[in-house]
Amino acid sequence: MQINVAQLLKEPVGSKRSYRMDELAGENNENHVEGEVNLTRTNRGILVTSELTADIKGSCSRCLGPACVRTTLRFEDEYYPIIDISSGAPLKVEPDAFSIDNNHILDLDEAIRQDIVMATPTKLLCKTDCPGICPVCGQEFARGDCGHGNKPHDHRWDKLAELRKESRV
Ligand SMILES: [Zn+2]
Ligand SMILES: [Zn+2]
Repeated sequence: MQINVAQLLKEPVGSKRSYRMDELAGENNENHVEGEVNLTRTNRGILVTSELTADIKGSCSRCLGPACVRTTLRFEDEYYPIIDISSGAPLKVEPDAFSIDNNHILDLDEAIRQDIVMATPTKLLCKTDCPGICPVCGQEFARGDCGHGNKPHDHRWDKLAELRKESRV
């Protein structure tokens, strides 16, 4: 999401704007992100506060089918203009700070992309009780017995197994 903040930069500290976001964002634009984005003029820049809902997509770690989880991204980031809005003079901005470009565009995409990466669980599941696939033929257990004698792994005991493993060390 890109917002032209030229007008807001000209307003006094404390001035606010709200925007409704509903678009595809993230890596490859595959995450549907929606929610409200609030901008507040600060003495050095613009504070962005936001609570967005994002769909995170990937492969189920048990059956490798498509998986999608919904997560909440919370932002509180200050963006600094790289040029002064009234004089056009260049302003000093820390290299790792979020900046507002010389066309006064505040670009939220990078922050959203980073947050989606951080919010992505290492193990996605298509559904919490996904039974997984047969390690021999790859058939989903949900589709029935493939005849290889493999039973769906009972994930309710995973935590206990992990604890046992840890206590043995
Ligand atoms: Zn699955
Ligand atoms: Zn099988």
